[in-house]
Amino acid sequence: MTEASAAALVDWFRANCRELSMRTPHPRDPYPVLVSEVMAQQTQIDRVVPAFDRFMELFPDAGSLAAAPEDEVLQAWSGLGYYRRARLLHTAVRAVVAAGEWPRTRAELARLPGLGPYTSAAVAAFCFGGDDPPVDGNVERVTARVLGLDLSLASGPLRRAADAFARDLWRAHPGPEVFEAVMELGATVCTPSAPRCPECPLAPGCQALRRGTPGLFPRPRPQRATEDRRWVCLWLPRDDGRVLLRRVADGTLLAGLWLPPLADAGVARNEDAARRLAVEAGVAGPLVAAPPVRHSITHRRITVVPFVASTATPMAHERAANWSWEDPAAPAVATSSLLAKLRRACADVSTLPRP
Ligand code: SF4
Repeated sequence: MTEASAAALVDWFRANCRELSMRTPHPRDPYPVLVSEVMAQQTQIDRVVPAFDRFMELFPDAGSLAAAPEDEVLQAWSGLGYYRRARLLHTAVRAVVAAGEWPRTRAELARLPGLGPYTSAAVAAFCFGGDDPPVDGNVERVTARVLGLDLSLASGPLRRAADAFARDLWRAHPGPEVFEAVMELGATVCTPSAPRCPECPLAPGCQALRRGTPGLFPRPRPQRATEDRRWVCLWLPRDDGRVLLRRVADGTLLAGLWLPPLADAGVARNEDAARRLAVEAGVAGPLVAAPPVRHSITHRRITVVPFVASTATPMAHERAANWSWEDPAAPAVATSSLLAKLRRACADVSTLPRP
């Protein structure tokens, strides 16, 4: 990487970068950088920006996030999915607050819960002058194309090549801006399926462009096999329209979120698995199956069969801390988009007359 190419990249970035609320002058405050980087993992930036702004209003600094109960943090994360990230962010910020100061190097930051090589390098570079490059999929794609590397996305060899490529950029143009510039180029110009090469500052030295096949670089990441699951759920509406939600147990999928009682049916019949849930909830009487809904969590494709029940009497579990009656259209607890799907599926069924 020549100094001229790195300078052209930074000039392009200064003239064309998107204005994002988290993009403040360097060095940045590590708290908003950490929040935005964790949010941006597996989520498109147009969904991250409003969520980030909302989150920063609720928890403007590390102290306020550390002091917040987990339920409030998960609720503020609603709509972003992958809630495990929120729990790890919360734990990491609590560790920083307990220590009384931020770790400053990539190696120290990587000891915080949930901070992988990318996030720890990003916080170190953007906040503390670190020169280890944050390498994400955008940096890998630009590297594979500029250098013409026939390697798979997220593979070790491409990750190492992208790391070396970004280090060259830093040497040619020291400072965190050059790291941000190459990520921005990948996000906005050197995009996966339709790179806009005529606008690209790296076009003069780009091997993929010279060969006329940018779209072939890098090779796609090998797909993880999808896993099909079948769940049942108990939809228990009350006369005032509220439904019974239960906090999903730790160590399971959707842990910490509030949803109607759910269970993996395994090899059992749907009706039998639903009846077990009804017994756990202290509900007798008929169960009426509603149309199944589909929900995906990473590589898992889940079919959820809701069963609508009714209740006329208060139940013992109403006093338990992990049960709550909530308006399913606007719950006051952290939930998943699965709740809205179940609400739509059960809308007609839940109007059945009480037994
Ligand atoms: S010239 Fe095209 S393929 Fe090469 S880095 Fe730029 S946008 Fe990507």
